[in-house]
Amino acid sequence: MLSVRSVSAWYDDVQALHEVSIDVEKGEVVAVLGANGAGKTTLLRTISGLLRKHTGEILLDGTRIERFGPERISVMGVSHVPQGRRIFPGLTVNENLIVGGVEHVSGKVLEENMDKVYSLFPQLAERRRQLGWSLSGGEQQMLAMGRALVSDPKIMILDEPSLGLAPVVVRELFRAIDDSRRTHNLTILVVEQNAHMALQIADRGYVMESGRVVLADTAAALGQNPLVREAYLGG
Ligand code: ATP
Repeated sequence: MLSVRSVSAWYDDVQALHEVSIDVEKGEVVAVLGANGAGKTTLLRTISGLLRKHTGEILLDGTRIERFGPERISVMGVSHVPQGRRIFPGLTVNENLIVGGVEHVSGKVLEENMDKVYSLFPQLAERRRQLGWSLSGGEQQMLAMGRALVSDPKIMILDEPSLGLAPVVVRELFRAIDDSRRTHNLTILVVEQNAHMALQIADRGYVMESGRVVLADTAAALGQNPLVREAYLGG
């Protein structure tokens, strides 16, 4: 599905990624863990075409996409939910979903995809006429994901979905992500500082440090790894 091969990336002259390689298969949830500044956001921005100074190859279903711009990559099926939940606060939940999907699909398909999002996140369905700003932080994150999913992407990439949310909301959100990936066979690449939650829903994971992948394993094995436990799971 998605294959990042030996990708390096730069901000001006500062190298932020060093020969990073990761793979995500169809139907998998893959987590990228790492401390602040490890390069997680940079990796996602490079995949979705937002960061242009890079080397290496990025393949989506076998097609090289690393030279394409963000619009084309998005149309090809990579849906990026950035940090900070960019929703339109003055639009309703329903309108936010329409805006999210309308560049990719229209008419009956858009309606079907919106119904699918509402079935994934029933909390959004109950609030479809509510304005974006009036949603809780967890609901706004669900809406941001709903906007990404309404185009029926091949892969959704999530940047720190837990950021700024209370622990109880984070648990609820990750339960919703887990339920939806199981019922709808979603393919997800998720970047998280909350390693505990990320490893609970992921099949596999990578650990990044200083712009490099330093560990790659199943989520279960990473959860048992003493280095991961000490550095990211509180011992
Ligand atoms: P965080 O969880 O804090 O977002 P991260 O793992 O996502 O951390 P990145 O944001 O990818 O890390 O940052 C990787 C490195 O690139 C860091 O050293 C950071 O200071 C640097 N960096 C990030 N954005 C820029 C930028 N716009 N210009 C210059 N350097 C940047």
